[in-house]
This record gives sequence, C-alpha cells and structure tokens, in this order.
Amino acid sequence: MKIRLVHLYADYLNIYADRGNIAVLSGRARARGHELEVSTVSIGDQVPAAADVDLLYVGGGQDREQALVAVDLAAKGPALRDAVEEGVAFLAVCGGYQLLGRFYRDRAGTELPGIGVLPIHTLAGEQRMIGDVLLDCAWAGETLAGFENHAGRTYLEAGAEPLGRVIAGFGNDGTSGYEGCRRLRAYGTYLHGPLLPRNGWFADRLLEEALAHATGEEHELAPLPDELEATAHAVSSDRARRRGGRS
Ligand code: GLN
Repeated sequence: MKIRLVHLYADYLNIYADRGNIAVLSGRARARGHELEVSTVSIGDQVPAAADVDLLYVGGGQDREQALVAVDLAAKGPALRDAVEEGVAFLAVCGGYQLLGRFYRDRAGTELPGIGVLPIHTLAGEQRMIGDVLLDCAWAGETLAGFENHAGRTYLEAGAEPLGRVIAGFGNDGTSGYEGCRRLRAYGTYLHGPLLPRNGWFADRLLEEALAHATGEEHELAPLPDELEATAHAVSSDRARRRGGRS
C-alpha cells in the first residue's frame, strides 16, 4: 500500500531531528512492504483534501518560528480539522503540538492562533522544562520515552484525553502529571529526541491508523525485531527515571 504523509512546515518547525521521525515511519512501512510517500506543505501551499492524505506531521520550533507560521497555519485550520474528523492520522511535536490547540501565548505575551484540533491551550512560562521524560500510556499498555525542552505550559480542556501519565519528567505543565493530548487519530506531545526511533510501537500505531484511513479497514502490522529500538527505549527510560523533571 502507499501511505501518503504530509510534513507541515518542515522548513520552519524542525528542531530535535523531526525528520528522524519521518525516516522511522518510512523504514517501518517499507519493512512491511508498504511505501511512505512524503510531501511537504509550507507557507502559501495548499493542504491536500482529506481523501488525498493519510498521515500529517508537524514538528517543533522556537517561538520565533512558530510566530512565522501561525497565521498561515490558522488559514489551513478548516482543512486540517476536516482531515482529522475524516480519520486522517496526525502527529504534532512540541511547538507544532501547541499550535494544534486553541492558542499559544508566547514568552513575549503574543497570542498565536491555534487550529483547534486538540482541546488544549498553552501559556509560556519563565523557566524552560528540559530533560528526559517517561510516560505511562495505559490506553495502549505501553510506555513512551523521549526528551522535552519547552517554556510552554499546556492545559488540557474539558473532554481532553492525555497521551500519557508522567512517570518521570515535567510533561504538559510540570504539575498536572499528564503529558500530551490525543483525539481521534491526532496525537500531540512534547516528546522530542526524536520520539519514534525509541518508541517503535507508537510509530506502528500511526502507520496502522494511516492505513485504516487509506483502506477503510483496520490494520495490524506484523511486529519487527526492534532490538535496537528496545535498547534505546530502555536507556532513555532509565535516564528519565534518574533525572527527569528536575530543573
Ligand atoms: N517554543 C515553544 C516553547 O518553548 C516550543 C519549543 C519546542 O518546539 N521545542 O515552549
């Protein structure tokens, strides 16, 4: 099968090796005989219709880059909201995650519009929340390990489902004990690193949901050996347990 991925603002929102996440999705799709067709959409470009994309991705960036894309992204909001309602899968990381909410008020106090795909809003604080993170994702019976670096404090609004419970690290706001947000097949998280090389199960979840959008049927991918991924997850989890969430 061909899986159509659109990488939003790859030229603006790409810190902590966001392209590494795309490479993992591509490699894991190929390992099962599927092809990940990657295209980019940036400022001034059209978002493909929901029928022409299976997986959306947006990465992280400093306040400056977020401010450069926010107005253009807001104009793409209706098409992206439709895509999510139509079952397109979506992974948004850090700065991109913040802009999937209602708004992000940055450290300068400027309110950047979000696209309202996730029931969240974010306010930048003084102290950055930096370090290794480990999450319990009970909904999947799995854990997620990664690295966070953000000034934003993200607040889950009514009806919001977190991506995971924080075992170690700061998470959304450093106090709620939750990280990320998920709705339909859209996932937002502060976990960088990049995220997917050390969390193979989550990459497969995104691919399965993208295939379900492409075919209208549920898919279960055959497991991969994942020795390296398991070691990376264990090392990252151990680092988080030893020092995550300490400023
Ligand atoms: N600029 C945002 C913040 O500081 C997001 C940072 C990022 O994407 N790493 O919270």
